[in-house]
Amino acid sequence: MRVLLVEDEESLAKALVRGLGAEGFAVDHVSDGAEGFWQAKEYPYDVVILDIMLPKMNGYDVARRLRDAGVWTPILMLTAKDGEYDEADALDLGADDYLTKPFHFVVLVARLRALLRRGAPERPAVLNVDDLELDPAAHTCRRGERDIPLTPREFALLEYLMRNHGRVVSKNQILTHVWAEDFRGDPNLVEVYVGYLRKKVDAPFGCKSIRTVRGAGYLLGRHDA
Ligand code: CA
Repeated sequence: MRVLLVEDEESLAKALVRGLGAEGFAVDHVSDGAEGFWQAKEYPYDVVILDIMLPKMNGYDVARRLRDAGVWTPILMLTAKDGEYDEADALDLGADDYLTKPFHFVVLVARLRALLRRGAPERPAVLNVDDLELDPAAHTCRRGERDIPLTPREFALLEYLMRNHGRVVSKNQILTHVWAEDFRGDPNLVEVYVGYLRKKVDAPFGCKSIRTVRGAGYLLGRHDA
């Protein structure tokens, strides 16, 4: 899942980029409101973490202008207890949730997962395709009765494929959603990771759920599709 972090406190931003990356999120970071607005409007993020007191444009204006522009990406606002703004204002102005600084990292991750779940009706809490099951909140994957351990990156890739099951997704779409924007590596890395996933979720079960669509990308479908 791809996250835009709009935060001007460098040390906090660094810690969040590192921590969320370890949780399997692809995080892009910008440090002023104007840039945050532009990025959130131009790119398909799954969720935006938005500070309030920001250079160039404050978080309230960013949220309001995004909603005015018809951008409905879920927004988690970061508020300060001693701020001049009321926390309830955040929700009035278009944020979906707020978190008061200082916060615990695990709470932030739980809130992000909750936002992603309720973001749209096609985002159920637990994803199922045939007997393959992925629970983003519990971070578990199983096929039938058997648990399948995945690395954070494998998990993020499978989550993206499952959220788009039945549709072909290109390598570039996968890179955009599963790897952060500043990733400049070889797109063939996607192939490598698809290979890892097949070895874990398909091969041991005699399944071929992740198909290669030549020249187009990958498709996760039913066994008999
Ligand atoms: Ca700030």
